[in-house]
Amino acid sequence: MADNKRNIILTGDRPTGPLHIGHYVGSLKRRVALQDSGKFDEIYILIADAQALTDNADDPQKIRDNIIQVTLDYLSCGIDPERSTICIQSELPALYELTAYYMNLVTTARLERNPTVKAEIKMRGFNEGGVGLPVGFYTYPISQAADITAFKANCVPVGEDQMPMLEQCREIVHKFNSTYGEVLVDPQIMLNENTACRRLPGTDGKAKMSKSLGNCIYLHASREELHQKVMSMFTDPDHINVSDPGKVEGNCVFTYLDAFCNDDLFAEYCPDFSCLDEMKEQYRKGGLGDVKCKRFLENVLNEELEPIRQRRARWEADIPAVYDILKAGTMKARETTGRTLSEVKDAMKINYFEDDALISEWEAR
Ligand code: ATP
Ligand code: MG
Repeated sequence: MADNKRNIILTGDRPTGPLHIGHYVGSLKRRVALQDSGKFDEIYILIADAQALTDNADDPQKIRDNIIQVTLDYLSCGIDPERSTICIQSELPALYELTAYYMNLVTTARLERNPTVKAEIKMRGFNEGGVGLPVGFYTYPISQAADITAFKANCVPVGEDQMPMLEQCREIVHKFNSTYGEVLVDPQIMLNENTACRRLPGTDGKAKMSKSLGNCIYLHASREELHQKVMSMFTDPDHINVSDPGKVEGNCVFTYLDAFCNDDLFAEYCPDFSCLDEMKEQYRKGGLGDVKCKRFLENVLNEELEPIRQRRARWEADIPAVYDILKAGTMKARETTGRTLSEVKDAMKINYFEDDALISEWEAR
C-alpha cells in the first residue's frame, strides 16, 4: 500500500496572464515560505493550462504565451526548482483519467451549488446573451480535485476563492475512499491568517484582483508602472479635501497596506506615524491626504517587488534554463501522477492487465 503520510503541497495558477500581487499574498508568498521551512517532503506547483483553456478555448496562444511568463513569476518570487517541482497540467495524462472517474462521483446538482463557479460564470457572461457555458468550465472543480489528489497533497495554500473547490475535492476523496478503498489523501486548505491577503481587491476597488478583470498590479511591474497604478488607485470617493474625514474600509490603499505593510517601514518612509493603526486613525478623522498614503504604499510595495524584479532579470537572461526546469518538473510530475492513477485503478479493479485474477475468477465460475 502506498505511503499516504507524507507532507505534500499542491498549488497552481491558470496561465491566463502574468501573476499579480493578489496571487503573491494569496498564495505565492506562502509557497515560498513553506518551501523554505523545509517541513514538506514534496512541493508541486501546477501551471493549469488545461483549466485555463476551459474559458479561453478560442485563444490558446494566450495560454501558451503565459507558460514561460508564469514560470518566471514563480522563479522571481523565490520558488527554487531544486525544492519545488513546477509542472504543466496538459502534459500529465493521468489527470484526465482521474477526472473521468471522479465525474461519476459528483452530481450536476452538486456542481451547480459551487459559489465560486457561480460567480465566475456570471463574471464571464456565460449563459447570457446566447453565450453558452462550456462543459469543461462547468466541471473544472472536478479536474481540480484530480490535480490535488494525483499528487496526494495534504496541504493546499490558496486564496479564499478556492474554498469551495477544496470542499468539493474533499467530498470526492471521501466518496472515492468509502466506495473503493483508502487510496486518496484528504487535503487541507491553507489560508493566509491575514484576511486582507485572502482575496485582494483590484485597484478599481472591485471585489477581486483578477487577471481577467484588468485591475491588477503585476509582479513584473516596473517602478514607473507601479507609480501609475498606485496613484490612480480607488480610495474613498467622498474623501475630496485633505481635511475631510475618510473611510478606510473598502479603500484599496488601506487594504493593500493591511496586506503588505509592516510597522517598521513607517520609520523609513512615513515617520509621521509609528504604525498603520495610527495612520488609519488620522485618515478617519481627516487631515491626511490620499497622495501621502499612496506614496507610502508605493514605497511599501517597492520594498516587496524590488528583490522580485532583480531575480526576474537574472532568469530572463536564461530562458532555455527556465524551459529545462519546466520539462524536468513535468517529467517528475508525470511519474507521481501516474503512480496515483495506478493505485486508483487497482482500487477500482479496472487495472485488468496487471491483474491475472481476471482469468482465475472467470475460470472458477
Ligand atoms: P483568472 O481570472 O484567470 O481565474 P486569477 O487571477 O483568478 O485568474 P487563478 O490562476 O485563478 O488567478 O488563481 C491562482 C491562485 O491565486 C489561487 O490560489 C487563488 O486563490 C489565488 N488568487 C487569485 N486572485 C487572488 C486575489 N485577488 N487575492 C488573493 N488570492 C488570489
Ligand atoms: Mg481564478
